[in-house]
Amino acid sequence: MEVPKNQRVFCPFCRKHTEHKVEPVKKKPRRKMAQGQRRYLRKLKGYGSFPRPKPSHEKSVKRTDLRYKCDVCGKKHTKGKGFRNKKFRLVKK
Ligand SMILES: [Zn+2]
Repeated sequence: MEVPKNQRVFCPFCRKHTEHKVEPVKKKPRRKMAQGQRRYLRKLKGYGSFPRPKPSHEKSVKRTDLRYKCDVCGKKHTKGKGFRNKKFRLVKK
C-alpha cells in the first residue's frame, strides 16, 4: 500500500484543513513480558499439564499506525486505530 508523504487533512488543534506530514509509528521494544506471555511460556515448559505445541506460523499482515504532523502548529494527531496491510510505503507527491 502506498500513502502520500504530505496530505491535506483536518487538524483538530487549528480546527481547519492544513498540510500534514505523515509518518508511521515505530514500535518500541518491550522490556518486560506481559503476564499472559509469562503464563504462556510456563505452559509451554509443560510441568503440571501436557506441553502445548508451539505456534507454527506468524501473522503476515500487520497493523500500520500513522501519525499526522501539522505544518502550521507542529502538533501530531492520529486517525483512528490504523489499518492492516502487508506492505507499506510512503510516496512523495
Ligand atoms: Zn495544526
